[in-house]
Amino acid sequence: MAGLWYIEYEKKIRPYIDLIDSLRALGLDKDLPLPTIAVIGDQSSGKSSVLEMLSEVALPRGTGIVTRCPLELKLKNGVQGTPWKGQIRYRDSVITLKSPDEVEEEIKSAQEDLAGRTGISSELISLQVESSCAPDLTLIDLPGIIRVPIGDQPQDIGAKIKDLIKSYIRKEETIILVVISCNVDIATTEALKMAQEVDPKGERTLGVLTKPDLIDCGTESDLLKIINNQIIPLQKGYMLIKCRGQQDLFAKTSLANALEQETEFFRKNVHFRTLLDNKLASFQHLSTRLTNELIVHIRKCLPVIQETIRNNISANTKQLEKIGGAIPEDIQTRVHDMTSKILIYCEELINLAMGDYKKEYNNEMKLYHFAREKFAEWCKQLDVVKIKLNEEAINMVKHHKKYSKGRELPGFTKYTVFEAIIRDQIQELMGPSLEMMKELSDKIETVFNTLAVQHFNGFPVLVNETRCKIAETCQKIEKEAENVIRTNFKMEGMVYAPDAMYSYKLMEFQAHSQQKGNNLTGNLNPDVQSMVVHLQTYYQIAIDRLVQMVPMVLRYYLLQELTNQIKLELAQILFHSKDVAALLHEEGDMAAKRVSLRSSLDRLTKARTLLMNF
Ligand code: GDP
Ligand code: MG
Repeated sequence: MAGLWYIEYEKKIRPYIDLIDSLRALGLDKDLPLPTIAVIGDQSSGKSSVLEMLSEVALPRGTGIVTRCPLELKLKNGVQGTPWKGQIRYRDSVITLKSPDEVEEEIKSAQEDLAGRTGISSELISLQVESSCAPDLTLIDLPGIIRVPIGDQPQDIGAKIKDLIKSYIRKEETIILVVISCNVDIATTEALKMAQEVDPKGERTLGVLTKPDLIDCGTESDLLKIINNQIIPLQKGYMLIKCRGQQDLFAKTSLANALEQETEFFRKNVHFRTLLDNKLASFQHLSTRLTNELIVHIRKCLPVIQETIRNNISANTKQLEKIGGAIPEDIQTRVHDMTSKILIYCEELINLAMGDYKKEYNNEMKLYHFAREKFAEWCKQLDVVKIKLNEEAINMVKHHKKYSKGRELPGFTKYTVFEAIIRDQIQELMGPSLEMMKELSDKIETVFNTLAVQHFNGFPVLVNETRCKIAETCQKIEKEAENVIRTNFKMEGMVYAPDAMYSYKLMEFQAHSQQKGNNLTGNLNPDVQSMVVHLQTYYQIAIDRLVQMVPMVLRYYLLQELTNQIKLELAQILFHSKDVAALLHEEGDMAAKRVSLRSSLDRLTKARTLLMNF
């Protein structure tokens, strides 16, 4: 190839093939199907022979399953005179080849690496060849279809091969090149059947018929019927080629000579001569045809590829965010990341306890509100007790006078009686106070746990550990608060009020009840009446104290101290953990999913850049 036409060609064709090759080299075929030509055929149909004639490189051949991994054959047409270049890539290996003679051995050893001695693998081996004889073409060679396993081949090898082939030919982006031997009944060809299954209209299937030199005399017209699309019609039709036969191999006929012999064969054959003229026979026409088919196909696929890349990028980004896109993979960075997550969580607890709420909180989360309501309810309860006290106090004073009368003369009521009654009354308030504390503490625990699940979503071990820390701290702080409340109630047992305050309150109370014309105490004897007024006065003073003290204790311990303590506990959780990795263990296969999403996104964005610059 030379001259103007070649320059045009270089501009128009090579870039498309290079683009798809680069996308495949990125691994983009893991994310979306790329346009390609897949070569399939029954065993011994001549697949390897076709490929080596196209590439002019001897590929592994022999009996049995020779191709055991998908082999990507990237053929590049080099300018006349440039030296032959070859490279094999698989997994992380890159092997540079010095001559075509090395290809066979290197592919065999690559296959053994990937698929062992007898198995097959779906991992791709990529062989790139640049030579002045090669066409511009990328093909994927797949293992031949076998019917029964032989020797030490695994029993399911046939099914595995079929699955592997299907995974390629199923895709709309694949042109299926079916290699069929002329000397078998084409209707029974397994490869053609498989192609028909995935491409019933034959829109992307091209038949390549081999071994025309081996057909029986007189059957040429049958063969022509096939090629003329009269037997099993395919929209892309059939082409006829002749490869090196067993004899040529024995005679060590070179590939270049074999190509010349092929042209000779068709030219001399009266039946097939017209096929050559109509470009339906020979390797020369097959390779041009394939290149053209591939280019048309790539052009058709490009807009879809671009669209799919866009869609996949946005879908993957969303999904990655959902499963913690910001979570780094290495443990050091993760500890750092988790520490900041824990701090943010603690900050939220503190804000919550202070009544600084986030917009998205529902009422269930509003702790400070909850505490306020509880305090108010409790105050109301004290008022109810106060009203009850009026009646009970009278009864008690009467009761006391009747049954506990000691040596005192009538008309004397002991201060101790007053003390005993008021002490009992006030102590009764301790139970509801502790109950309120328990309710508040339970609520706080629930809310903090809910938030832990939100903040440490996907890290079940950490969530559990946090729950434990919260429960432990709650218990500890509850105990401390309870002690303070109990102590306060014990002190209340002393019955104390500053004299001036008591006198003032007593006066106020007497004035108030006279003003209202107290009908409860009105008809009592003055002794009982005075006792009741004292009880009520003192009760009011004590209640005023408790109403301030109990909520303050609870607010201090359960809201402020508790959150501070939890913060301290959690701040140390990562540093004191024996096994940080276990602590940061994630639910299910989240981490693996993230890794795969990240690498997919990486491939897709690189591909997008490649396409933008194209
Ligand atoms: P594969 O199993 O499909 O890869 O088939 P091969 O390429 O190994 O070919 C099987 C046998 O058929 C080999 O001995 C080839 O030399 C022979 N063969 C392939 N194509 C032709 C052809 O066009 N003419 C003749 N005479 N023999 C061929
Ligand atoms: Mg083969």
